[in-house]
Amino acid sequence: MNNNQNNQNNNFFNNNPLLAFALFSIVIILIFKAFIGDGEGLGTMVGDKSTSMTKQVSYSDVKTLIKEGKITSVKLTPMAIEAIGSDNGRNVRYIAQNVPAVDKDLIPLLDEKNIKYEGIMGGGWLSELIGMMLPIIIFFAIWMFLAKRMQKGMGGGILGIGKAGKLINGEKPETRFSDVAGVEEAKEEVKEIVDFLKYPERYMELGAKIPKGVLLVGPPGTGKTLLAKAVAGEASVPFFSVSGSSFIEMFVGVGASRVRDLFEQAKKDAPAIIFIDEIDAIGKSRASGANFGGNDEREQTLNQLLAEMDGFGTNTPVIVLAATNRPEILDAALLRAGRFDRQVLVDKPDYEGRLEILKVHSKDVKLSGKVDMAAIAKATAGLAGADLANIINESALLAGRLNKKEIEQSDLMEAIERAFVGLEKKNRKINDLEKKIVSYHESGHALMAELTEGATRVTKVSIIPRGLGALGYTLHLPDEENRFLKQKKELLAEIDVLLGGRAAEEIFVGDISTGAGNDLQRATAIVKDMISVYGMSDVAGLMVLEKSQNSFLGGGMSQKDYSEKTAEKIDEAVKSLLGEHYAHVKQTLGEYADAIEEMAKVLLEVEVIEGSRVRAIIEAYEQERGMPSRLAHHAKIAKEQREAI
Ligand code: ADP
Ligand code: ZN
Repeated sequence: MNNNQNNQNNNFFNNNPLLAFALFSIVIILIFKAFIGDGEGLGTMVGDKSTSMTKQVSYSDVKTLIKEGKITSVKLTPMAIEAIGSDNGRNVRYIAQNVPAVDKDLIPLLDEKNIKYEGIMGGGWLSELIGMMLPIIIFFAIWMFLAKRMQKGMGGGILGIGKAGKLINGEKPETRFSDVAGVEEAKEEVKEIVDFLKYPERYMELGAKIPKGVLLVGPPGTGKTLLAKAVAGEASVPFFSVSGSSFIEMFVGVGASRVRDLFEQAKKDAPAIIFIDEIDAIGKSRASGANFGGNDEREQTLNQLLAEMDGFGTNTPVIVLAATNRPEILDAALLRAGRFDRQVLVDKPDYEGRLEILKVHSKDVKLSGKVDMAAIAKATAGLAGADLANIINESALLAGRLNKKEIEQSDLMEAIERAFVGLEKKNRKINDLEKKIVSYHESGHALMAELTEGATRVTKVSIIPRGLGALGYTLHLPDEENRFLKQKKELLAEIDVLLGGRAAEEIFVGDISTGAGNDLQRATAIVKDMISVYGMSDVAGLMVLEKSQNSFLGGGMSQKDYSEKTAEKIDEAVKSLLGEHYAHVKQTLGEYADAIEEMAKVLLEVEVIEGSRVRAIIEAYEQERGMPSRLAHHAKIAKEQREAI
């Protein structure tokens, strides 16, 4: 993408024809006025100081004057003719513009009348040339000046060009890791970057490749920017921050050139951190966002970014941190090795996290000793760090308005209420009923995961909304990483676990919700694949019905080569298998009803529970009833399997 510099010029004209034309016209008009104007220019160039009067006349007038003998000398240029003569005893300078190009009679006439004449080629030719070139030169001067301004981003400027300029600063931030709370795992993951930046030589001597790009993924306001800043602050390196969207507002070509400048600066000041907020604005998948035109700017900027990241060697200690809350729409090229190949989740804080964040932010305000921060943390489920910071500040404003000396609990509660009112509009707050539904739903998943042979066990259950869509989640990590084969037993177990959410809603809430949509989709897909791809059913036997194609590219398009009748049969089989499993899941949940109740209660209270807690609840329940422990059975089988591998 080295030719971007050249493209830039063309694009500037192409995309701003009006502006270019306007500038050009103004300059041309000014130049013509100044140089050609009304002939004064010529007059002063070839004029005779002793003349006392100048008259504009036509060419034929001049010829008539010559014939009448009123002219004493003539100066000729290709553009004009200047004749000195006298009129009633006064010296007069006659000037005629627009001289005909060819007049064979003129010179013989001058000879005949014995008039002194001379041709002044130089002056006229030069002035003509300057007149032609100068507008162009001035135009380019102005244009380069504008381009410079945009690149440097001095802000303001003509037509608001260079709005984003202020963002390239490269200061060393004061922020430290202690300012970032409630995102401990994310903090752990970026800590090693600080070390790379502090002691780059150490790693280079060992031949280690320093990571170039780290993607911070998480909902808005969770502290991604803050974390990036803290990395720079801890490492004491310059922090270059830009917003992805700021590249796009500008003229085509400018975004790319700003990316180039940004990296140039950072490399000069290396070790350094470049932070790109909202990287999705430039990094949107080229396939997905294919609207007509208008994408040039983004595409160019993205290409430039990729080129820059590939361009600097692994021994340049510049690390690019980028933030997004929509990692799924990013162009795959961005996530490739050597680019943003590391992802760090910066999630919304749980209860403990919120408490930590509230503490960090209440350091700067005057709190009454009676404030119960734990209660505040409890009341703010689902809120992000930025919301919490806001609540503290808002409570200070409220207390100030009431002329209090300290912030009291009531001010904080009032501030929370206001925050939620604002958020409800943005649809980010989950109400109590939703929370209850999600608690049962996730408990259903968790229970099935623990009791079903072949299922992966629960790592963590959470009812904290994860930004987009999912209101809660149950995290399962397989015992062994990198497994490529799945047994039929495991696929069936997966189906049971997926159905657990919906079944729990039906049994314990008494109604079903849309929350299970994704689970059901996945369960259906598994059953379908078992039948038509893996040959695991009686319907098709070993006959593979679908050649699965590259599902990354075609969006899961597969070739069907079977009849309508077979299709019907498959549909029937899928439905009946799902139905059977659903009945089984409901029965299991029914048998463990009190365990589910307990789990949901704990979840409602603390929002996130570890897998060990889930198992403890189930174990206690089984022991209380003196039932044969399915949990223990599952654990034993899982252990045997692990050892066999
Ligand atoms: P993001 O970049 O994820 O949208 P920011 O880093 O811009 O979020 O957060 C905005 C502000 O909210 C921060 O400057 C800080 O005051 C507060 N904040 C957000 N998350 C946290 C956190 N985890 N710890 C402390 N403060 C936070
Ligand atoms: Zn679910």
